[in-house]
Amino acid sequence: MANLRDYYRRNFLYQSHRLMLPELREKVVHTCSECGFFVQVAGKTETRPGCAAIIPYYASLAGRVPRELKVLEVLQAVGKNGLEQVLAGAGPHRQACGLFHLKMDK
Ligand code: SF4
Repeated sequence: MANLRDYYRRNFLYQSHRLMLPELREKVVHTCSECGFFVQVAGKTETRPGCAAIIPYYASLAGRVPRELKVLEVLQAVGKNGLEQVLAGAGPHRQACGLFHLKMDK
């Protein structure tokens, strides 16, 4: 019988496989648009995608995350720096982050 260690080392098909934990797979295959924290932040003139996981009330899952948040609500909850983080964190086609939470109402 051949040396088993050598078999795997020389098998290029086996080398191309990556092992990943089941929880990690969920984050890798999903995008922000499938996440429950993904919201639209509506301002006076434009609406931009954002991440409600920055807002403590929604991050704690105390309340249902609405599809759209007014920019004033976000400012009151987390302030100006928080608003920047909310708007910078999410994008509809971005790969999900570690806080991904699958949206229940698809
Ligand atoms: S940045 Fe993370 S938590 Fe926020 S919407 Fe995207 S996947 Fe969800």
